Amino acid sequence: MDDIFILAEHRQGELRDITFEMLTKGKTLSEEMGKPLVALLLGHNAGKMADQLKDRANRVMLVEDPKLENYNSEAYHKALVNLIEQENPLAVLIGHTAFGMDLAPSLATAINAPIATDCLDVMVVNARFKAIRQVYGGKLNVEVHLKPGQPHLITVRPASFSPEDYSLPGEIVNVASPLTEEIASKRFLEYVEAAAGEVDITQSPILVSVGRGIKDQENITIVQDLADSLGAALSCSRPVVDKKWLPKERQVGTSGKTVKPKVYIAVGISGAFQHVAGMKTSGTIIAINKDPKAPIFNVADYGIVGDLFKIVPSLKEKVKEAFA
Ligand SMILES: Cc1cc2nc3c(=O)[nH]c(=O)nc-3n(C[C@H](O)[C@H](O)[C@H](O)COP(=O)(O)OP(=O)(O)OC[C@H]3O[C@@H](n4cnc5c(N)ncnc54)[C@H](O)[C@@H]3O)c2cc1C
Repeated sequence: MDDIFILAEHRQGELRDITFEMLTKGKTLSEEMGKPLVALLLGHNAGKMADQLKDRANRVMLVEDPKLENYNSEAYHKALVNLIEQENPLAVLIGHTAFGMDLAPSLATAINAPIATDCLDVMVVNARFKAIRQVYGGKLNVEVHLKPGQPHLITVRPASFSPEDYSLPGEIVNVASPLTEEIASKRFLEYVEAAAGEVDITQSPILVSVGRGIKDQENITIVQDLADSLGAALSCSRPVVDKKWLPKERQVGTSGKTVKPKVYIAVGISGAFQHVAGMKTSGTIIAINKDPKAPIFNVADYGIVGDLFKIVPSLKEKVKEAFA
């Protein structure tokens, strides 16, 4: 029992950000434990991705199989049960993404391993892993102490760690695919791209986020104009989605998306913990709210107390002047 495994996540031949976030955390864990860091890559024609991972781990274990080209929980499950039982790692980190949420629980059951899900942090205390996760909808953080002696599965919330530059002398080790039989119960059909005009708010470096303080759907154009002047994407709090003013894909928070832009501007958002949990690791947070006691100011780097209907249009004009 030795290695720390990170399961690489990829889509359409590209590694996802969560992979590099987990590898950065994995490097710290491997240094603290004095154990090797291993990236697991399951794919097909995945040499380019393996090369990208090579200097970010001590070893890349590559399982090549056409059945692993696109994520399929049954194929991944079979391949991983095999690998984990053979290698007996200390821990396996998996992204708490749609992919990881689908895969990790059944994997934990199959190998009878303890699992800590949706973790915000993982650390080593007295040569044991400790994970931090939230309970009661994000009101409390709890520490989960994982007992040594068997592999642990830990799923990591996206954007919890910032990927860092480092270089490790990694090697690529090809592992024979254990998938000898057809995958019977599930099959990949196609990727469905987001409809034109839809925005992935997790990818935008600047987000302008609108809350219930906007009062009416037609007022959202004021905030959209500010976002446009900054080249930012528009996101929102949950009531804006509940009222059907913006689609669910734009919602930030525990029941929406976790975002980590360079700049996050919260407009008419009170700062309920369910919202803050989804954006508090943003680079610079700017809040506009008429209530000086609004909790959003507790996490904001800059706060503007005042009426958004006056502040947002004049801010937009200033931005336009600055970029003219
Ligand atoms: C299980 C669960 C999951 C949830 N998940 C999420 C989630 O993922 N994301 C999320 O956002 N919420 C979530 N919520 C809801 C959350 O608890 C809050 O109700 C929500 O975040 C509040 O949204 P808001 O800040 O836009 O609205 P409000 O709390 O109503 O705040 C509006 C703010 O606008 C300000 N304001 C009003 N008028 C003006 C003006 N003219 N100028 C300037 N400021 C003004 C007010 O001072 C106020 O602070 C969840 C709740 C539950 C129970």
